[in-house]
Amino acid sequence: MASHLLPTYIRADLAFERGEGAWLTATNGERYLDFGSGVAVNALGHAHPRLVAAITDQAQKVWHVSNLFQIPQAERLAARLCEASFADKVFFANSGAEALECVIKTARKYHAVSGHPEKFRIITFEGAFHGRTLATLAAGGQKKYLEGFGPVVEGFDQVPFGDLDAVKAAIGANTAAILIEPIMGEGGVRVVPNQFLKALRELCDRHGLLLAYDEVQTGMGRTGELFAYQRTGAAPDIMGLAKGLGGGFPIGACLATAEAAKGMTAGTHGSTFGGNPLGTAVGNAVLDVLLSPGFLDNVRKTSLLLKQRLAEVKDKYPTVISEIRGEGLLLGLQAVVPNGDLVAEFRNEKLLAIAAGDNVVRLLPPLIVGEAEVAEAVGMIDRACARIARTRAASAKEAVA
Ligand SMILES: *Cc1c(COP(=O)(O)O)cnc(C)c1O
Repeated sequence: MASHLLPTYIRADLAFERGEGAWLTATNGERYLDFGSGVAVNALGHAHPRLVAAITDQAQKVWHVSNLFQIPQAERLAARLCEASFADKVFFANSGAEALECVIKTARKYHAVSGHPEKFRIITFEGAFHGRTLATLAAGGQKKYLEGFGPVVEGFDQVPFGDLDAVKAAIGANTAAILIEPIMGEGGVRVVPNQFLKALRELCDRHGLLLAYDEVQTGMGRTGELFAYQRTGAAPDIMGLAKGLGGGFPIGACLATAEAAKGMTAGTHGSTFGGNPLGTAVGNAVLDVLLSPGFLDNVRKTSLLLKQRLAEVKDKYPTVISEIRGEGLLLGLQAVVPNGDLVAEFRNEKLLAIAAGDNVVRLLPPLIVGEAEVAEAVGMIDRACARIARTRAASAKEAVA
């Protein structure tokens, strides 16, 4: 049967009927261990009772009312996000790209209302991913995504990853902000050193620029902190969130200091669905769990265990995996073989993982994952790697003979 979905994705021939915790059950009855979490979205796994209760409860009251009225659930979620971060103000959107659109607009507007409308350019990094809208594509600067979609949105200057001199050289009279993911997710789980972020913070302070973080993937507990920047010693002025924020319900957010947000006054921005009662009720439930005592400690503990076990697997199969990287439960295996082969071999073991740039396979288990599931996943990874290593050794032998 031909699909009527626009074929913009290459999809595995696999559909899921239900999930519980870190496990998904396919329509054919097979069970999969979900170490992809719908690309870091299902932070609390599948069918988490707290989220099911929150969405059911809110669904029986009111789903949506528009932002022309007070929305207590959104007020509460915004207050709690600010309480837990550098921020004073929050705008709710429905996705990561929309959150980043607001980040970009907030940065530009800040300078415009400060008497510098010429300061609108934003420095970004090669390999970054900020979304698929026209502006966020321009920010990400990846040719393969921009091609064929007309003129590229003006105002983004890309510099090589980790190149501070290039950043300094790119700062000019028109620069408004620097935008960076504290850990590049789609770009291959590349961790930005704390020193680099601190240097960016200093540069921004010295030149009157805003520092903006894209924490769409790294935020909401993924790295073992509520936000990845909290371990870096360099807080931003503006930050985008999405993915884990709704635990599977589509919601994004743009957080900013009062100063950075000063241009975003009545009528300057909007979203029909953004911050509606249903979405923000779920967001509050996600926060309830993430902020419950010991939860993030446990993420860090699980991360350590998983990282150690993965390092052992890497040492065992140097012809398959060359490096383990990442923080918390945003981990990357840099593959020696094509990363797609590794993802497929994991899937044969009934383990779901997600490819990323730089020939990396991402492991993004739900943050509720336990030791037993980590052990199970490592077993699957070990068997998959063993199979690939054997095949490679056999074909190398054949080539010699
Ligand atoms: C996923 C992602 C986005 C885009 O989010 P969408 O919800 O797909 O629009 C932006 N930035 C980062 C870092 C992401 O990982």
